[in-house]
Amino acid sequence: MAQRRRRKKRTQHAGKSPLLVAFVLLAAAGALMALSASGHIHFGLPGESSAPREKTDMSGAFVPGERDAAVNVRVLSGDTVMEMDLGTYTLAVVRGEMPASFHREALAAQAVAARTFTVSAMRSGGRHENADVCTNPNCCQAYRSEADAKSSWGLLAKTLEAKVREAVSESDGLLMTYEGKPILAAYHSSNAGLTRPSGEVWINDLPYLVSVPSPEDDGDHIPSYHSEKSVSREELASLFPESDFSGAAETWLTILETDAVGTVKRAIIGGKERSGNGIRGALGLRSACFWAEPEGDGLRFSVTGFGHGVGMSQYGAQHMAKAGSSFREILTHYYPGATLEAVS
Ligand SMILES: [Zn+2]
Repeated sequence: MAQRRRRKKRTQHAGKSPLLVAFVLLAAAGALMALSASGHIHFGLPGESSAPREKTDMSGAFVPGERDAAVNVRVLSGDTVMEMDLGTYTLAVVRGEMPASFHREALAAQAVAARTFTVSAMRSGGRHENADVCTNPNCCQAYRSEADAKSSWGLLAKTLEAKVREAVSESDGLLMTYEGKPILAAYHSSNAGLTRPSGEVWINDLPYLVSVPSPEDDGDHIPSYHSEKSVSREELASLFPESDFSGAAETWLTILETDAVGTVKRAIIGGKERSGNGIRGALGLRSACFWAEPEGDGLRFSVTGFGHGVGMSQYGAQHMAKAGSSFREILTHYYPGATLEAVS
C-alpha cells in the first residue's frame, strides 16, 4: 500500500523515443468518453527480429479459460470482423498494450483492465455497429497477433508468449466492477508518483478513479519518464491564439495549482488561464506534470511521466508486482472501491 517513493523532482534526463500511442476508452451509457495513453513499448531488441527463427515455435494455439471461452467478441480489423473468444482477444490486447517483459502479475492486471474495457463496450453497444471493439488503439485497444509479437520479440518470443498467456489464464473471466457494472478501467504508462482523479482530466469524477500514490519504480528505468520539449514563441502564439506572448518569456507561464507531485492543475499561459491538461494537450506534452524555462525565443518544457495519469499506472503495476503484489492487489490499489468479479 504505502509504496510511495520520494524522487528527485524535475531531474532532467534526455528523453527516449516515445513509443506510446493514445487510445480511446468509452464509458458505459455514453456518460463519459476518455482518452487514455497506454504503453506500446516493443520489447524486441535491435537485431532480434532478424535473428534465426530456429525452434521458436509456440506451444500451439492458446486455450482460453472456461469463463473467457464462453464469451464471443466481434473484433473489427480494417473492413473485416473477426470473431473470437474473450481470452484470445484479451491475449492480443495485452501483447499490444504492455511490454511482455513485465512481471506476470502486472500483465494479469493489464489483462483484467483490457477485459473490463471489452465487456463494458459489449454491454454499452461500443463504438462500432457490427463489432464490439476494433483493433485501432486510437479508438479501442491495441491488438497484436501472435505472429506480430513473435517477430518483434525474437528469440524471447516463446518465453514471453507463455508468460502473457499465463497472465490471461490466471485472470480468466475476471473484471473490475463498480455497483455491478464494468468500470472505466483507464490506465496509463507512468506518472510522477500520484494518479489523478478522472474529473481533473475528463468530464466526470468517478468514485474509483481517484488520486492514489503510485510507486513508479526508479524513473531512470522507465522509458520516456523524463522528457523535454522546446516550443518557440511563434508556435505558442499559434497554439494559444487567445494568449499574448509579447512580453518577456519569463512571464509567459505561471503555474497556479499543482497536486502534491507537481502535476499542473491550473496555469496562466500568455495571460490566459488554462487547465494543466489543456496545456498538455495543446503542446503535445507527455503528461501534465511539467514546468518551463525560457530558451531561445521560446520555452523549454520539462515533463515527468507519460500519459493522462488516471487509473492504473503500468509501470506502477510493474513495481508493485516485482515487490510481491498480486494482480488483485494491484487492481484494488489503482481502482479503490471497485470489485474484482467474474464475467457473467
Ligand atoms: Zn474502436
